[in-house]
Amino acid sequence: MKIGMKVAIALGLGIKRNAHILVGLIAGMIVGTILHAHNIPETSLIREVLNFIGQAFIRLIQMVVIPLVISAIIIGVASVGDNKQLSKFGTKMIVYYGLITVAAVTIGAILASVFHPGAGAQSFISAEAIADVQAHVANELEANKTTSILNKFLLLIPKNPLEAIAKGDMIPILLFTLVFSIALAKVGDINRPVVSFFESVFAATMKVTDWIMFFAAPGVFALSATAIAGFGMSIFGTISKLLAILIAGFLIQLLVVYPVMMKTFSKVPVRTFYSAIAEAMMVAFGTASSSATLPLTMACCERRGISHKVCSFVLPLGATLNMDATALFQTVAVIFLTQAYGVELGVLQIIQIAGLAIIASSTSAGIPGAGLITLALILNGLWLTPEQLALGFAFLMAFERVIDMLRTMVNVTSDTVVAAIIADNENEINYDLLNNPESYKEVI
Ligand code: ASP
Repeated sequence: MKIGMKVAIALGLGIKRNAHILVGLIAGMIVGTILHAHNIPETSLIREVLNFIGQAFIRLIQMVVIPLVISAIIIGVASVGDNKQLSKFGTKMIVYYGLITVAAVTIGAILASVFHPGAGAQSFISAEAIADVQAHVANELEANKTTSILNKFLLLIPKNPLEAIAKGDMIPILLFTLVFSIALAKVGDINRPVVSFFESVFAATMKVTDWIMFFAAPGVFALSATAIAGFGMSIFGTISKLLAILIAGFLIQLLVVYPVMMKTFSKVPVRTFYSAIAEAMMVAFGTASSSATLPLTMACCERRGISHKVCSFVLPLGATLNMDATALFQTVAVIFLTQAYGVELGVLQIIQIAGLAIIASSTSAGIPGAGLITLALILNGLWLTPEQLALGFAFLMAFERVIDMLRTMVNVTSDTVVAAIIADNENEINYDLLNNPESYKEVI
């Protein structure tokens, strides 16, 4: 059987097992379409209630993210123990995440250059929509312009880690936690009280996650209904080419790049593995947030055979730094914009866009819409003017939520793929558990 077919079947199996979440998703789209067709305003009771349920679900999951990330990294790094193994994990992680992201931007650049999604795009944008977004984007860009790239990097170093935690700035939090946990690993046995404290924190956050997942189906239902009620399905007609290219790119990552990587670098069975992480994929789609999905991503991987050591090190870092689908989206989006404005791009400029997309995507937080905001970084790098950007941004924002849902699903999948490959390489995967249907019965 062809590999793509196997993956489709695996996805199907996973979806069947999680029918309640899928039903929530589809029902949400139907309800959203009906609300949109009847012009039910945002202020109506039903849309407010839907919005409340969706937001409550996201906030509940987000509530556990910071304790989870910090405790997972501290336990992960400390349990990896000796420096040799830590640097082996770290190097592998950088290489695999790097390969996946370079593949993503290459695919994005080729698809956008060959199929020209930007040709004739301007005629689809309504004057009011443009005017609305123009003011917003111009402000964003002004704010962005005042900080140079070097300054942006400077801001990633937290001068007060507690302030970063209070604000939820993920990259500074990660940086501090990494340095702190490496130090803990180095001080030897004296680290025990701190490590056991964080082991308890981790166990408790996983428990809370289990409770929150009872609300997955209504949460995903409300989130998708709200998204579709806002812009309706008709939007898909007017921007079909750009959407088709992005979806094709995401599918190539899911059905070609990841399976090829798994086959080349490990013996992880693709079909079984996709089935193992299906719940995480769907919740990623529903929440459009890698960070919010993290508790579930970890639960899927750990309960189905990948060791805690690998999961707690690779997945939290991946949820924040590995954004291959975001990089693919950003590459296509910027090439699309330049095409819409009739700007001719040379090969060098396309490479520059792809390079900037790798940086911009990894500075995107794992939250909804982050990829669209950091797109400004790439455009600034190309010296495009705010006026030009405003028009294009209006276009991209029209269907941002759906694309964000898709790219988050792909981002989360690639985190787990890299975790699985590293686990296989390091003998940290329990194949009996991965292949055991019993481990799939548990509702996460
Ligand atoms: N929402 C995405 C994520 O959490 C990031 C993005 O906006 O692309 O993975």
